[in-house]
Amino acid sequence: MANISFDNIINAFAHKSDRGLKRSRFIFGLIGYPLFVPIATRLTPLVMKSGLPVITRFIRKTIFKQFVGGETIQATAKVATVLSEFNVNVILDYAVEGKEGNANFEDATQKIIEVIKYAATQPNVPFISIKVSSFADYELLRTLNDAPRLRSGIHDNEQEIAEWDKVCERMYRICEAAEENNVGVLVDAEQSWLQDPVDRLTIEMMEEFNTEKAVVYNTLQLYRHDRLHFLKLSHKIAVKNEFILGIKLVRGAYMEKERARAILTGHASPIHDTKEDTDRDFDAAITYCIDNLTNIAFILASHNEKSNMLAANLMEEKEIAPNHPHVCFSQLYGMSDNITFNLAKENYSVCKYLPFGPLKDVIPYLMRRAQENTSVKGQTGRELNLIRREIDRRKLKQNAMQ
Ligand SMILES: Cc1cc2nc3c(=O)[nH]c(=O)nc-3n(C[C@H](O)[C@H](O)[C@H](O)COP(=O)(O)OP(=O)(O)OC[C@H]3O[C@@H](n4cnc5c(N)ncnc54)[C@H](O)[C@@H]3O)c2cc1C
Repeated sequence: MANISFDNIINAFAHKSDRGLKRSRFIFGLIGYPLFVPIATRLTPLVMKSGLPVITRFIRKTIFKQFVGGETIQATAKVATVLSEFNVNVILDYAVEGKEGNANFEDATQKIIEVIKYAATQPNVPFISIKVSSFADYELLRTLNDAPRLRSGIHDNEQEIAEWDKVCERMYRICEAAEENNVGVLVDAEQSWLQDPVDRLTIEMMEEFNTEKAVVYNTLQLYRHDRLHFLKLSHKIAVKNEFILGIKLVRGAYMEKERARAILTGHASPIHDTKEDTDRDFDAAITYCIDNLTNIAFILASHNEKSNMLAANLMEEKEIAPNHPHVCFSQLYGMSDNITFNLAKENYSVCKYLPFGPLKDVIPYLMRRAQENTSVKGQTGRELNLIRREIDRRKLKQNAMQ
């Protein structure tokens, strides 16, 4: 058994000031109110458009500060430095989403390359994360996902093919910059109706750039029925074509949207029927990756204590070093510090996923975090409880010293 306790609140919150802890208690408490998130997710985008200074100030000082590294890339340095003091690395994410048009796609590509170059100058930023939809047209991804004829190379729409070529060229430039600067690129998984072209492009990039080490990582959402099989299939392709399979394992962030769309379109939902099914596939994927570390490099991206403990225990059992270069644990900035900092303390490779971007542009990311924290209510309640315990512990300590 690995020598870790996710209950150790001293390790978990050593990086936080008293004020920071109280802010986290306030935010997780607020998110825990049943009506808060549904109302806030509807109202916030409207309120942001109105530009009411009181509201923007409130968001900036609370949820933004909790979950985001800053408005600019330079602003993230402060957070990254604190994390580095506790042996925690950073996955930088330029979290601007949902902008359409070629000019915006080019801007996003440039910005991503800037982030890569910046990451290379930092002591603890080994990865950046990207969304293909930030530099590809949403409708184009949807069309390619639905049209096997287009995907298989039988092209019957010249304009779409020209657009797709541009997307591939942007992705190539990003991966090339990543390789040159020795920074890993994690390609986020998106909604299932956009994912197929993203998978194909990412595997192509791995074939090109992952020959010596993992530069490019695809993301698998194990809440989908088909992803455990897809992991094994991707591994087969990697072995056959002699590249290292880079994989980020997640459960999946779009469950409600996926289910609503399945009802709307009359298709079967791609998502498991129960949480237990998702958990079973997720843990099976962890085991599969750990059993195949020769040619799989993976990032276990989860706030689930059992899954993180499973990986740590398997590594211990198989005598795999905690800082093995093909295993990394990761949690989102602002969440599950008890997992991150306790793993880091025992020398496991751990990264916080740290988004940044102008306040108005990171609203979709923040809304997902708020929603996620209601759908993972058990874990959030647990986190709030740990934060309260640490605040009480510090109070007692201060009183004892007076
Ligand atoms: C570093 C990092 C990177 C991430 N990148 C991505 C990404 O690229 N793409 C993406 O989609 N998500 C991403 N996520 C979010 C992730 O997919 C999860 O939404 C989130 O981490 C919650 O899952 P969990 O394993 O942490 O926690 P848990 O609380 O154990 O799991 C909650 C998750 O279980 C699943 N679930 C819940 N109820 C049910 C049910 N009834 N039936 C079936 N499944 C259910 C859902 O996926 C839900 O989000 C990322 C998360 C992290 C930490």
